Amino acid sequence: MFFKQLFDEDSSTFTYLLAEEDSREAILIDPVASHVDEYLIMLKAHNFTLKYSLETHVHADHVTGSGLLRQLTGTQTGVNAQCGAVCADMQLQHGQTLQFGKYSIQVIETPGHTPGSTSFLIGDRLFTGDALLINGCGRTDFQGGDAGAQFDAITQRLFALPDETLVYPGHDYNGKRVSCIGQERTTNPRLAGKSREEFIEIMRNLNLPKPRLMDIAVPANRMCGIPDEAEATLQG
Ligand code: FE
Repeated sequence: MFFKQLFDEDSSTFTYLLAEEDSREAILIDPVASHVDEYLIMLKAHNFTLKYSLETHVHADHVTGSGLLRQLTGTQTGVNAQCGAVCADMQLQHGQTLQFGKYSIQVIETPGHTPGSTSFLIGDRLFTGDALLINGCGRTDFQGGDAGAQFDAITQRLFALPDETLVYPGHDYNGKRVSCIGQERTTNPRLAGKSREEFIEIMRNLNLPKPRLMDIAVPANRMCGIPDEAEATLQG
């Protein structure tokens, strides 16, 4: 499998490019609008066709590149049905499977950071968005966040995966790039050995500032990052 982990310095967001070498089919997870040119160069250099552009959730800290990529490559965009992003081609649901080349993508709903937060399992790689982070987890204090739901999703769905499953998060602010389920289950300070009530209490007391781009990014991302296109879609 071709695999590349890309990083947006402005928002500390990870974007993932995966492809299957035989079919040349590729997917992007959480593309950032300002990096679309780079993705296109990479796809062209490797002669990949972008089959899907997937979102782990409606982001509050960057504008998605999905809508632009759809315009430029004809890719299909996918986001969880709970996200309220009517512009997406695919409204994803728990248990659904997508395919690129010989690889399958398992959709695992992990609500809590947002109601539509979703993780994707591809082989032994798990893409957790802002549900499970390395030594942390996504905040649950806005965008319909729910700490209890987040605890349930992480402990019952993600921690049930094999310990060696690689965890690729949606962000990291400390220079880390990858973890695994066993490590997060046993050492994540918010989750390891914590009860549901303790976790909710931790999340209630984080007191984080609001993301800089939130008022721009959230409405734009409900429209796949292209407000004009979505207005046209809604009107039409
Ligand atoms: Fe987020």
